[in-house]
Amino acid sequence: GTFSYTFDTAAYKGTAIINTGLFIDGKWVEPVEGGTIDVVNPATGKVITKVSAGSAKDVDIAVAAAKKAYKTSWGLKTPGVVRGKLLNKLADLIEENAAEFAALEALDVGKVYEKAKSQDVGGAIAVIRYYAGWADKIQGKTIETNDKKFAYTRHEPYGVVGQIVPWNFPMGMVSWKIGPALATGNTIVLKPSEITPLTALKLAGLINEAGFPPGVVNIVNGYGHTVGQAISEHPLIEKVAFTGSTLTGRKILKASAESNIKVVTLELGGKSPTIIFDDADIDQAVKWASHGIFFNMGQCCTAGSRIFIQEGIYDEFLKKFTAITKYLGDTTGDPFTPGTQHGPQVSQIQFDRVMGYIEAGKEEGAKVHIGGVRHGEDGFFIKPTIFTDCHQGMKIVREEIFGPVAAIIKFKTEDEVIELANDTTYGLASNVFSENGSRAIRVAHAIESGTVWVNCAQMGELSVPFGGYKQSGIGRELGEYALDTYTQVKAVHVNL
Ligand code: NAD
Repeated sequence: GTFSYTFDTAAYKGTAIINTGLFIDGKWVEPVEGGTIDVVNPATGKVITKVSAGSAKDVDIAVAAAKKAYKTSWGLKTPGVVRGKLLNKLADLIEENAAEFAALEALDVGKVYEKAKSQDVGGAIAVIRYYAGWADKIQGKTIETNDKKFAYTRHEPYGVVGQIVPWNFPMGMVSWKIGPALATGNTIVLKPSEITPLTALKLAGLINEAGFPPGVVNIVNGYGHTVGQAISEHPLIEKVAFTGSTLTGRKILKASAESNIKVVTLELGGKSPTIIFDDADIDQAVKWASHGIFFNMGQCCTAGSRIFIQEGIYDEFLKKFTAITKYLGDTTGDPFTPGTQHGPQVSQIQFDRVMGYIEAGKEEGAKVHIGGVRHGEDGFFIKPTIFTDCHQGMKIVREEIFGPVAAIIKFKTEDEVIELANDTTYGLASNVFSENGSRAIRVAHAIESGTVWVNCAQMGELSVPFGGYKQSGIGRELGEYALDTYTQVKAVHVNL
């Protein structure tokens, strides 16, 4: 089927038309067993369309197409320079349609339109171009062993890779996944989140125009327990790249172990600390700490959800942090209204989940300093929320909330805060604020997380690796590091 939607908003006017089927072997098809999923506008709570929901049978067909494409028209059959050219063409096509992509992302996820345009869509274009540039720079090494023997390495693609992405950054996550996979010569079976499939479907509609041979990119929408599970178990998929919750990551690892020992890379959850020392630049720290937790309505794996404030700066920081949080609360509303800073949570389920954590925080004795309530009558809006009087034993301090809820904790010493910050099963990211350079670096090195932002937050640089320590994941995305996770090394020994 098709979905046509006319945007008539102050921020964007235009009609978006997308195919709602499965994109397999360069064609739009309907699922073998039928089935659809409702897509809901989180700003209103109303169903806007239905999209096709695939099953394991559709995954089989997509994998067969991807395997054939890998052998006949992609992989090592297509030079890197050509793969790069097609990726660049895809980026150009997304750019030509950037406003429509942003509108669909805002409609589907509830992101503020202007932010979706610059950050989500702009970011996706940049990532695809970045990996287009790498496509002809995948190189092995020569290793001399003695004057009669040497070996060389080839960084070969895996073949068919499965990719499963979440709903919080649909465009961003698709680009992080397809960019390095295609640059290195793999073919793809990708499952968008069933909650936010629209921009992935729009992108699928550009794949043929960009010039990719049929079967190189297959997009199979559907539920996690059907399509996602089938990808994780498929014997012909050599690698799965996943972004989502730690619970699902565990299931994917298990499915890999019990099927064909496919390589698994995981980008999972977090409970990132934000540490503010007495000697921080307070206005900068307030601005970044706010961005750290409330960016994307708190629906961010790297959300700085535990804010540790040193006692000497506590009152002043909290006062300023409350003011900025109030401003976000006052500018909560429709994503397409100019001036809106904060949109809805993505779904009823997430809304209920976050409100459940707010209740749990109150029951466990934390104090709602500001927020803690829904905004408006319709849609899934929650006002940015600050809890004070938090301690380590509370659910809101230990568990990932994935919503606009900050837990504030006062601390005295550097050693104490390092211990508290590391007292978590997660290790995705952290933020350290101090104008004392040696202290900032000392703490950055002591923290168990894959990313540390010193005097900033949520900075995504394409050339810098991203991934988790501990139960936040396995492997790295972005930068040159991601290329290693999409290639396997072959050593060729030569005896002269
Ligand atoms: P989720 O794990 O429920 O879903 C993620 C994806 O996995 C979806 O496409 C879903 O359909 C699929 N899935 C669900 N069950 C599956 C199964 N049994 N087998 C295979 N696939 C399955 O997570 P979510 O609710 O979409 O996203 C929120 C979570 O993602 C948060 O915990 C967040 O921290 C995490 N996240 C992490 C990163 C990161 O880079 N580390 C980025 C974004 C989100």
